[in-house]
Amino acid sequence: LAERLQGTIQKIKGKGKVTEQDVKEMMREVRFALIEADVNLKVVKEFVKKVSERAVGVDVMKSLTPGQQVIKIVQDELKNLMGGEQSPIKFSNRPPTVIMMVGLQGAGKTTTTGKLANVLRKKYNKKPLLVAADIYRPAAVEQLQTLGKQLSLPVFSLGTDVSPVEIARQAIEHAKEEHLDVVLIDTAGRLHIDEELMQELKDIRGLKEPDEVFLVVDAMTGQDAVNVAQSFNETVGITGVVLTKLDGDTRGGAALSIRSVTEKPIKFVGMGEKMDALEPFHPERMASRILGMGDVLSLIEKAQANVDMEKAKELEEKFMTQSFTFDDFIEQLQAVKKMGPLDELLKMIPGANKMKGLDNVKVDEKQMGRIEAIIYSMTPNEKTNPEIISASRKKRIATGSGTTIQEVNRLLKQFEEMKKMMKQMTGMAQGKGKKKMKM
Ligand code: GDP
Ligand code: MG
Repeated sequence: LAERLQGTIQKIKGKGKVTEQDVKEMMREVRFALIEADVNLKVVKEFVKKVSERAVGVDVMKSLTPGQQVIKIVQDELKNLMGGEQSPIKFSNRPPTVIMMVGLQGAGKTTTTGKLANVLRKKYNKKPLLVAADIYRPAAVEQLQTLGKQLSLPVFSLGTDVSPVEIARQAIEHAKEEHLDVVLIDTAGRLHIDEELMQELKDIRGLKEPDEVFLVVDAMTGQDAVNVAQSFNETVGITGVVLTKLDGDTRGGAALSIRSVTEKPIKFVGMGEKMDALEPFHPERMASRILGMGDVLSLIEKAQANVDMEKAKELEEKFMTQSFTFDDFIEQLQAVKKMGPLDELLKMIPGANKMKGLDNVKVDEKQMGRIEAIIYSMTPNEKTNPEIISASRKKRIATGSGTTIQEVNRLLKQFEEMKKMMKQMTGMAQGKGKKKMKM
């Protein structure tokens, strides 16, 4: 999306107002991105309609181009749609807090039960009790017991011959006696939603109103997630959602669909199989992920904040008249530096995090420092007319900047080539009768 969207943005750049046609074009891309991210079609339609209404006729703020503004609206609305802010866990003021985990088989309930217990202990200072109430899936009880051992947390189990409702009842009693303050019930899932399962879950619910009923959903299931969420919400009643397997390459459109269909907050996301791979849900990050554009907006904002438009114009003039000097060069360097560490910036570029080998790219900030030092060692006259720098001066500059003559030579050569290139570019631009030059 990012690339195509950028194209559309380029087109409407510089306009004072966003027209209906502009929005239509951008919304086509957004729509495409959402469908690609597996967002439910009905949800996509409603969303696009809402954003279009907000976007048409928007006045362009000084700091943003119309395109960026539309993207910002898209992102804001996505974020709102997913609940806006992070949603905390609700604890009972009469412990134990009861949290029930529900969902289809293989969604990640048991794993998430372990992870959640870990979070509760570490971040909330709670004493959780894991309850093995899945008596159907072979080895489900053992699976939870293994996790409990791994985490050094107590697991309550009555084997597989006692009904889940009875297990849950006794577990809550046990927690009271042992002063354990959160009871996490790992329930059975089915391959499909069925009456029996729902009744069982309702019965467990009936024991003591759970403080939270978390629906665990596999983010990779995409479209299906909507139906699952809807039926669980309607029959059992849920209070929140945990979206698992987001460490995979799914874009996570399920998050959007589930939220807008059930209106229940997504509380956590599973980012792996390990017991520490559970993170609070961040609507904003999810919005970017669904749109497939990294942190595009923060990148844009960063650039906007640091690149002075007036300055840019001035530079453009200098390019045209070929009066670009080392002083201008250093100003440019500093503007780039102000934007932050270069490797961080690189990471924000959409797709860049997926690019092979980017991990190894270390943008050399030391190198930039050396270039700066060389330029600072020049006299004002030399900065404007570097061709007057003699061999002995080169030596002095190298000594003064703590670099070598080779480095000084290289910089001078690069600068010369840059100017030559500018000359060609401006020549071309003027040849075509264009006044503007793209930077
Ligand atoms: P349950 O049937 O709902 O209890 O599902 P399980 O907890 O047994 O999980 C099913 C499989 O999904 C297991 O192999 C888990 O390791 C895996 N799993 C669960 N959560 C995640 C996650 O966030 N990321 C990844 N990659 N795998 C997960
Ligand atoms: Mg399980």
